[in-house]
Amino acid sequence: MVVGRFAPSPTGPLHIGSLVAAVGSWLMAKRSGGRWLLRIDDLDRDRCRQAFEDDILRTLERFGLLWDGAIGRQSANNDQYAAVFEQLRQLGAVYPCSCSRAEIARSGSAPHPGEEIPYPGSCRGGLPAGRQPRAWRLRTEGVTMVFDDLRHGPVTHDFTHSGDFVVKRAEGFFAYQLAVVVDDRLSGINQVVRGDDLLDSTPRQVLLHQLLGWSLPQYCHLPLVTGPDGAKLSKRDNTVSLADGRVVGHEAQLLVKALDFLGVCVPVELQGVSCTELLEWGRLHFQAVTSNSGL
Ligand code: GLU
Repeated sequence: MVVGRFAPSPTGPLHIGSLVAAVGSWLMAKRSGGRWLLRIDDLDRDRCRQAFEDDILRTLERFGLLWDGAIGRQSANNDQYAAVFEQLRQLGAVYPCSCSRAEIARSGSAPHPGEEIPYPGSCRGGLPAGRQPRAWRLRTEGVTMVFDDLRHGPVTHDFTHSGDFVVKRAEGFFAYQLAVVVDDRLSGINQVVRGDDLLDSTPRQVLLHQLLGWSLPQYCHLPLVTGPDGAKLSKRDNTVSLADGRVVGHEAQLLVKALDFLGVCVPVELQGVSCTELLEWGRLHFQAVTSNSGL
């Protein structure tokens, strides 16, 4: 049985892109009678707000996107992150790093505009004398990997272009890359459907799954919703929140747009039906995302 999930971070309200990820992951799980779990990604306590979480939950409910079982929460999984981190440490797969962001920025340039500067490996052979550890990084030297994505097909990633990545942050908490792998494993997720903005993260997560000897979930990265000129939409102007008058009372129209974006063309006869009915119709008519699905 497919076990999919939606994992919003309560650092802001949902936006059009996250609504598409929610609907897409719901359809992919539910089309075959699977389960759709909800996890609140509240790792970065300083940026998370209870008010955003409440708004996200109420908004999902208003759209008829009802999750199965209890809500998961990253803040409840810290002990498991620590145990997995210890396992990685014993494998010799991680090492402490003393480099600051500024030092890494000075060390080189990004391979492509907008990409991060690869970590140069300065602390890989041991901390330089007199330096204090800040973050912990995972060794990736010489690794090139290929993983399958349902929409993109085989995706190749050469870690030389990204470098050893952080699994435990200087602030003391575990990094998203480590947390998400542990979270998905703990809740038995076998299908990860999310936006293309996270495609770059996936090789890191696949590498962690592999090092830990865990089976990989299926991955499917959906296209990002862009403006008419192809530009990224600003989160503020595309908020999907119950606090927004442009959303309340217009849920069904927004849902039709999200379904349309995902290749489900809702017939005119269904105009005016509830979100629950739209989702059910979508579930029955949704074609699984593949590399030929034209998305
Ligand atoms: N919490 C992440 C976000 O809101 C998504 C995590 C994931 O889907 O793996 O961007």
